[in-house]
Amino acid sequence: MIVTASAADTGGNKNIVIKTADEILLMKEANQIVAASLAMLRTLVDVGVTTWDLDKAAEDLCIKMKAKPAFKGYRGFPGSLCVSINEEVVHGIPSRKKKLRKGDIISIDFGVLFRGFYGDSAITLPVGNVKEDVARLLVVTEESLEKGIEQVVVGNRVSDISKAIQAHVEGSGFSVVRQFVGHGIGSALHEAPEIPNFFQGERTARLVPGMVLAIEPMVNMGTYKVKVLRDGWTVITDDKKPSAHFEHSVAVTEKGPLVLSSREI
Ligand code: MG
Ligand code: MG
Repeated sequence: MIVTASAADTGGNKNIVIKTADEILLMKEANQIVAASLAMLRTLVDVGVTTWDLDKAAEDLCIKMKAKPAFKGYRGFPGSLCVSINEEVVHGIPSRKKKLRKGDIISIDFGVLFRGFYGDSAITLPVGNVKEDVARLLVVTEESLEKGIEQVVVGNRVSDISKAIQAHVEGSGFSVVRQFVGHGIGSALHEAPEIPNFFQGERTARLVPGMVLAIEPMVNMGTYKVKVLRDGWTVITDDKKPSAHFEHSVAVTEKGPLVLSSREI
């Protein structure tokens, strides 16, 4: 059953789809396939591996687990993974020509469709040893996701998530991408509400049980500004400094955040 939250509950956003307990269980299964895939990819990331190799491995495992890669064909995207290296922020296209080099960082974003529901999660990994400030960028970005998840409490607003992420990132001397945001997720990959990683005012949806949110801070070492390359997909930082990205799909419950894409649940 799909029930839409009342306008009063969601801060006026009538388009937010509230999931039943059974639907959240299915979403957990979809997200656990994503989590298992990312865990497998983590073991493959190494010097000399191409982003094409990673894409193929993810697609094969996903199909074996009876799920469908969600990004392939989405608005014409050619890969199963979004793989974004160094100054690439998000939406990098897997390529046989892109070999990982020592000192790179690689963001791997993966989504699947399983029994009618989507899972979506991303990690950023170092390839061998990376510079100290780059290692810190990864730590701070993952921490900012955790700070955002801590705000997934009934009665809070989406803006509380945004504020927590921005405060941690900017307090650490990095910047938050504004052009791309997190999103609700369910039987569609991208649902309402948008979840910006920066504060734009309090007038945002209030969190109610049954909402599922894909929270995904994209954090830049330098300017927050980004641009899209001529391939129509790859987003890079304006100043070519590195960028990191972590994402979890999180259900709002009376007991607090339930991180559906965590390996630990
Ligand atoms: Mg994603
Ligand atoms: Mg997402």
